[in-house]
Order: sequence, then structure tokens, then C-alpha cells
Amino acid sequence: MNLQSPVSSLQMVGPQYAKKLAKLNISTIKDLLLHIPHRYEDYRLISPINKLQAGEVVTIQGEVISANNVFTSRGKKVQKVIIADQTGHLELTWFNQMYIATALKPGTKVSVSGKVGFFGPKLTIISPEYEIINSQLSIINLIHTSRLIPTYPETSGVSSKWLRSRIFPLLKFLPQQDPLPPEIRHKYQLIDWQKAIKTIHFPTSPEQIEIAKHRLAFDELVELQLASLLRKHLQKLHQVAHQFDISKNEIVTFIANLPFDLTPAQTRAINDIINDLGQSTPANRLIIGDVGSGKTVVAAVAMYLAFLNGYQSVLMAPTQILAHQHEQTLRSLLEPLGVKIGLVTSSVKPSALSIQQSALLIGTHALLNVKNFQPGLVVIDEQHRFGVSQRSSLMQSSHPHTLSLTATPIPRTVALTVYGDVDVSYIDEMPSGRLPVKTWVVPPQKRPNAYKWIHDQILSQKTQAFIVCPLIDESSSESLAQVKAATVEFQHLKTKIFPKLKLDLIHGKIKIKDKQDIINRFAKRETDILVATPVIEVGIDIPQASIMVIEACERFGLAQLHQLRGRVGRRNQQAYCLLFSDSQQPAVIGRLKNLERENSGIKLAEIDLNLRGPGELYGTKQHGYTDLKIATFSDTQLIHDTKSAAQTIFSSQLPANQS
Ligand code: ADP
Ligand code: MG
Repeated sequence: MNLQSPVSSLQMVGPQYAKKLAKLNISTIKDLLLHIPHRYEDYRLISPINKLQAGEVVTIQGEVISANNVFTSRGKKVQKVIIADQTGHLELTWFNQMYIATALKPGTKVSVSGKVGFFGPKLTIISPEYEIINSQLSIINLIHTSRLIPTYPETSGVSSKWLRSRIFPLLKFLPQQDPLPPEIRHKYQLIDWQKAIKTIHFPTSPEQIEIAKHRLAFDELVELQLASLLRKHLQKLHQVAHQFDISKNEIVTFIANLPFDLTPAQTRAINDIINDLGQSTPANRLIIGDVGSGKTVVAAVAMYLAFLNGYQSVLMAPTQILAHQHEQTLRSLLEPLGVKIGLVTSSVKPSALSIQQSALLIGTHALLNVKNFQPGLVVIDEQHRFGVSQRSSLMQSSHPHTLSLTATPIPRTVALTVYGDVDVSYIDEMPSGRLPVKTWVVPPQKRPNAYKWIHDQILSQKTQAFIVCPLIDESSSESLAQVKAATVEFQHLKTKIFPKLKLDLIHGKIKIKDKQDIINRFAKRETDILVATPVIEVGIDIPQASIMVIEACERFGLAQLHQLRGRVGRRNQQAYCLLFSDSQQPAVIGRLKNLERENSGIKLAEIDLNLRGPGELYGTKQHGYTDLKIATFSDTQLIHDTKSAAQTIFSSQLPANQS
């Protein structure tokens, strides 16, 4: 058996079913074998008919006595099949399954599993699983009844029954070769791969399921980590054009002259980067830190060091607003030190000469079109907002050092697994003196009071508020539906809720110049409330606003909500976040209440991970996370074990002089 062969090559599948299986992400035989049941029915109890009790989940084995279609008074078709064993007989019931009466002819030996119940006054099993026992198919080969029976994720046309009958025969032909070397299996006490595959589909006890799952989860993570080790290895085969001299006193002076003391976490990140930049292979580091944790200044140090070494740098930001903000910040930090700064956006295109003369080019993705520019350092801000290809096209030709910044709180276990080839620094503390944002989950009945409170705060405290509209779809570019919903909400707020206040609306379809005006008006306190869509809001920096209202907050991940609230309350002033939800479900409210207690983005991301699974992690898709099928990112121990196992395997496969 070749595990990599397409499923369509299996006789019992063929091209038609291959298409259906593709919907379940199954394309190879290996995928089919790794299609893991999400639960099991326990049909192990085989009971004589005269011992049956209502409520029991059982298997009975016997012979069909009669099979009839009966029409009820309401015109429904009911199939009634009587089976008998040595102890008695029982009527089985199906609805609208005309073929049953033909399949189960009198005299057929059959095994039947299901939950004993009543049909009228009589004991029966309604819609049981059944399979015919014939001489070729001995009892040990039963796959739908009599044992722990797998139920799989299904799709139209592909039922669990169908999957069982395709997977079971394959299990006899599994390849002998175990994907993990014996030392690793021994060290981590893992069962054989073949045994794990057989057990995951047809276990003999519930305990075995866990053991098999553990083995397969191990494989899955090892595979992922081997892939990133290989990427890292290939990266390190490149050399940077010139190595940086990192012993520059100017850096020490620069840090000493900052208007604030760096936090210890910022200092650690800076040390990590400086160390990277001294290597002869290109650095590839990701800085993860909450909004406001001070990532810009960390990047500024790296760009200054590039300048001191005679290299140009690029800083790419996802929006023009953010690019402009960076330009202002970095001009004030670096221009006095002689660093020439150029701006490149779709509306600002400097000449080739001024590009050559800039030590630092700041811009949007328009930077990707700049020709003849070979930076020594590339910094990508809010890196998750860019596609993988955009990121890599900046780095193609000259193998520069790269530094990516993100406020997406990627949990450590995820970073370790998915970003195995990237070095990660966490800025996990805020500059001192910042007050945590006071956060409340507001149920529907408290909404009027909340509006009144906001109104009073704005008037009495001379503060401002953001109101973020419901998230309609989680695409990174804004949909028309999203804009429309925001416009409706804006009109409602303006005319019905806050008629005495000044409101503005901002969304992605507004022209950049008008956007800038809207933000400027808000910054100058000419508006009281800025109504925004979830997309546009990322990256706006208006520290004097102290109230953040988020509508339909149950549609967001916790980490995402945390990022939204990070927009307010930057200058040591008390800020507030009101999370509006119309949900009445205790589980939903319970999840949201984590935001009232917890103030670290990373912690919230980890809670998200445990509560909703990695699929729900904010921005997972943009990050290109592979969805794990078996393992979970919350299993820290397994992630550590598989990391070192992958390292062992990887270095044993490299020629001795390269490991
Ligand atoms: P982010 O990590 O969200 O990009 P920024 O780099 O924009 O954060 O920093 C947010 C604000 O905090 C800026 O005004 C910056 O000057 C300030 N800041 C950065 N580091 C410190 C620090 N160690 N102490 C005080 N303020 C700081
Ligand atoms: Mg930033």
C-alpha cells in the first residue's frame, strides 16, 4: 500500500467519492487512515433478547423471522423486522427505509446494535445499526455492531457506515514500515503505528483509544516540526551579504536618550535582535507583544543598527495610517541621528534618487514595487496582515535580516510548533504605570444604562468613545455587507441614542484622505464618538479616547477583543471597555467574562485555545496555521517532546558535518 496514493485509486472509492472525500480534506490513502473518529458508540454488550431493558445500549444477534412495511394512519412508512435468538424475539423499527424489508429477508442472520426503547407499549430498537452475519463474515469482522463503533466527521454522501466499510479492509494492508524510528518509539513509550491506526478505528477498549490517539498526535506534531526544521535549515544555508558589527556605542547612547526607560521585556527583545544581527545567516525573528507594549522602539533600535552599519532598512505596515504614524515616530527618533527617511505608499512615490538616499523606507505594500533597493533589514509590522508571498517577496533577492512584529498573541505552544523555523521574542509586559482597561460584559437589559453612562462620561470627563460594529464576516478585506451594517448602526446611534453628541463613522470603503480627516477630527476632540467597523479600527492610535464599546462581542475571539480594547487608555488614564452581547448562553457569557479578569493577550489567547480550539484563534488563517487533526496546541508536554524528537530525527538524517 502506498500511503501517498490518491484515494480515488482505491477500488471501493473511485473518482466520484474522491470528490466528496475532498470536502473532508481527504485526498490520499493516508488522509483516509488519519480520518479520526470524533466519537465511538459502545455496542460491546451482547444481550439475550429476554434480558433486554429499556434504556440499554446493546447488541443482539439472531435470525430474521419476518420483515414488513407498515403504513401508519398518518401515511408514514414504518419497517417492522422481528428477530429471534434462543431466548425470545424482538421487533425492530425503522422509518421510511423501504430497502430494509428487502435487505433483511426471513432466515437472515443479523447483528443489531442500538438503544432499547419503546414503540407504543412494546420494547423495540428504533433505527438500529445492523449488519448481516454470513459464513464469510465471521463475528470478529463485524464493523457496525457488537463492539466500539467509530463515528466520523461526515459529509453528504459519505456516512460513518460508508467510511467504516472502506477503512476496515485497508487495515489488513498497512505498510510495515513505522514512520518513527524504534529509539524514539521506545523513549516516548509509543505503540506501533500500525497498531495505532487499527485501534483508532476499531478499538477494543476506551483506554486504547487514548493510547492510539497519543501515538498519532505525536506523529502529527513531529511531522510539522520536521517541516519547520527543514525550512530553518534551508534558510541558514544562505549568507547575508555583509555581517553587521553589533558593538556600536551609538546604540547604548540611543537607548539612554529615550524619553522613557525600556521595560525588561523590551530590553530582552532588543538583545535577541542585536544578537541575531551579528550572525552571518539571515535573522528571522518575530516579536509578539500586546498593543502598546512598545514594539516600535525595539524595531527602531534594529533599524538604527542597520544604518550604523551602512545598510538600508524597510519598514512595511499594513495601512497608510499606520505607515504615516510610523513615519512621524521614527522621524522624531532617528532623523536627529542622521537617518534619512523616505515614505512609500500608493499615493506617495518618491524618486529613484531619493529612494537610493533614504536609509529607511517606510511604507505600505506599495514598497513591494520599489526596484533596485536591497535592504539589509526588513521590518514587517502587524505581519499577520500580510500574505506569506508578500512577506517573502520583500526578502527574495538579498536575503536580508527580517524582523516581524505582531500584536496577535500567538500562544507559546503554537509559536513553537508552527513557527519552529522563526525565532520568537515575547514582549509580555506593559510600560509601567499603565492601568488595565476596566472591562464589563453588558447584557441586553443593561444596554440603556450603559448608553447613559457613556453619554455622562463623555460630557463630565471630556472623554471620547469608540463603538465597534458587529463583525459580520471575518475576511481581512471589508465586505459591503459590513460597511452597510456599520452605516445603519451609525445612523441609529446618531439619531436615537446620542442625538446631542457628535458622531463620525469610519470604515474601509472611505477614501484615505477622508479617513485621515475623520481621524484628525477625532484626535482634535471635534467628535465625541467614532463608530468603526472591526477592520478599520486596527492600528488607529488615539490615546485620549477612554471608552471602547464592542457590539456582538461573542463573534470575536477573546484575544481579538483584547486587541480592540487595547486601542483605548494609553496614557496612564483609566479606560473602559464595554462588551455588548445579546447572547443569553451561560457558556458564551462565561467565556467573555475572562476579559473582565485577565489582562494579558497571551493568556487570553491560551484560554481561547483551550475553549474554542486552534481553529478559532484570531487570525489563524492569515498566519497560515496548519489545522491540527489529532494533536492540540494546548498539549504543552507533547509539543515539547515532539520538538526534541523531531530534532533527533532531523540531525540523524543530515550528513555528519552539517548537523
Ligand atoms: P506597539 O507595541 O503597539 O506597536 P508602540 O511601539 O506604538 O506600541 O508604543 C506605544 C506607546 O508607548 C508609544 O507612545 C511609545 O512611545 C510608548 N512606549 C514604548 N516603550 C515605552 C516604555 N518602555 N515606557 C513608556 N512608554 C513607552
Ligand atoms: Mg505597533
